[in-house]
Amino acid sequence: MTVVVKDPRALYLKVREERMKGREVGLVPTMGFLHEGHRSLVKKCREENDLAVVSIFVNPIQFGPSEDLDCYPRDLESDLALLEEEGVDILFHPEPEAMYRQDRSVFVDETVLSRDLCGASRPGHFRGVCTVVLKLFNLVGPNRAYFGQKDYQQLKVIQRMVRDLDVPVEIRPCPIVREADGLAKSSRNAYLSAEEREAGLLLSASLAAAQLIFADGERNVARLKGEVESVLGRNRLADPEYVEIRDAETLETLEKIEGTALLALAVRVGRTRLIDNCLLEV
Ligand code: AMP
Repeated sequence: MTVVVKDPRALYLKVREERMKGREVGLVPTMGFLHEGHRSLVKKCREENDLAVVSIFVNPIQFGPSEDLDCYPRDLESDLALLEEEGVDILFHPEPEAMYRQDRSVFVDETVLSRDLCGASRPGHFRGVCTVVLKLFNLVGPNRAYFGQKDYQQLKVIQRMVRDLDVPVEIRPCPIVREADGLAKSSRNAYLSAEEREAGLLLSASLAAAQLIFADGERNVARLKGEVESVLGRNRLADPEYVEIRDAETLETLEKIEGTALLALAVRVGRTRLIDNCLLEV
């Protein structure tokens, strides 16, 4: 039975009680409208911990003024059914007013890894993410927290926050879950028309094309990026925001791949912004 908790203080007290009994706690932070990608995180969390906590919170401070906060998809009933199915103990589902006071004045800013890629087109996004995730860590005090590699930059930013602020939690990265045709699962896929979904397939197709020439020995970043761009160019509905190849740890720019590199892209398809990535490992 999944217990729904809305009040942050009640969550804190409830989890603390469990922790005092020696139980290990796992946390999966989400924005809801759960799909198989989320389910994979929840399953791992369930397996590795005595108490599994999932949060569903569409965090207003990580959305820009022209972004999709108001129309972000929500379906609490079906989310709860998924969490029950997976044996989750606690769903934390607060109202924004319970998480943020009107006169809030403290935020968490990661200043290096969050600058480029998605950070460049979404100013304030990672500040919002770090702030809410640290609040969730403080409320839950998890032993482990689960994040998808679908949001690779987010994962790296959170790992850096945990390292630099000595947050006592183990970050557990989880692989990207895809549809059968390659499209990375995302709550935002619900926005896509049939035509747009077709164009959306070019994200994973372009990564696959780059991986293919990489496997054949191509190490030149400009040429690998060119391959991705040429595949994205096949459909006029796909409008690339960025195609980047970066060092997988520091997210610094590269000219030639020598260690493990991240190939990451963000593409606008109609009004929907899609992201995807893969690692290129020498
Ligand atoms: P969101 O609800 O979009 O904020 O995502 C919550 C968590 O689920 C984040 O850690 C995401 O990286 C992860 N996630 C979202 N989509 C996927 C996916 N397709 N595969 C793996 N993890 C995912």
